[in-house]
Amino acid sequence: MRKTSLAAAAIGSLASATSAEAAREGTAFLCVTCGMQYPESAKPPESCPVCEDERQYVPPEGQQWTTLEQLHKTHKNTIKQEEENLYSINVSPKIGIGQRAFLIRTPKGNVLWDCQPLIDDATVSRINELGGIAEIAISHPHYYTTMIEWSRAFGGAPIHIHEAERKWVMRPDPCVKFWEGEKKTIFGDLPLIRTGGHFEGYQVLHWPAGAGGKGALMAGDQPQICMDPKQVSFMWSYPNFIPLNAPTIRHVMECLDPLAYDRIYGAFVVRGKGVVPTGGKQVVQRSADRYLKAIQG
Ligand SMILES: [Zn+2]
Repeated sequence: MRKTSLAAAAIGSLASATSAEAAREGTAFLCVTCGMQYPESAKPPESCPVCEDERQYVPPEGQQWTTLEQLHKTHKNTIKQEEENLYSINVSPKIGIGQRAFLIRTPKGNVLWDCQPLIDDATVSRINELGGIAEIAISHPHYYTTMIEWSRAFGGAPIHIHEAERKWVMRPDPCVKFWEGEKKTIFGDLPLIRTGGHFEGYQVLHWPAGAGGKGALMAGDQPQICMDPKQVSFMWSYPNFIPLNAPTIRHVMECLDPLAYDRIYGAFVVRGKGVVPTGGKQVVQRSADRYLKAIQG
């Protein structure tokens, strides 16, 4: 059902792209498979480098494209409170990789953590009720999707991305602020930590006020919360099951070690949840030990 409607959406967007108006103004097409949005063009891009990368895949039916205009007719966001000052933004039906985004409210302003393709008037209006978005940070390129649209909808909010991922920013824009080094702090108390691993410039966000002051790790998909939420994992490619090597896992652990956190929020809702509610730090340590044993024999 989903495939049919998305295929129809892709055909619809192709048709509209050939119209004189679209040719004049251009359309910022989105890859249906990964959600990446490309710069305005009269017709869809030839290919999606994100999907062609070994970590992802081009579906057997080939590359398909859609537009935000199409998604507005077929998709809807649900904004759900996860705990005090934390909201998840969930799109349905699934589009792209299927991750969720988060809004973290702080006294100094709100942060959008990670991103997902659908942004519409209802979403912007609800987020404005919650205080808007002052800063944006995204764990890795698989979630960049329509980040430029999100920034523009909230006054050009800066998007913090590690310099190592510059080549994966498919729609360059002045609102993207590349940072270098191992740590960048937003508002003085929300550190982005560059862990590498799944992507060279992979970053997590540490939210010290989360979990009632015990701290929360906004992990994206590394560490990835497993089917058993007492376990997490670390992969170079999730769809193609390509593991990370032992030195890389050790490096990720060294980066996470100094952070105080009890809870982990992941990018995906797994079996109705997407959180390690408590004991997160121990879960990560135990899972890393197990992973190292498994890959080292
Ligand atoms: Zn793609």
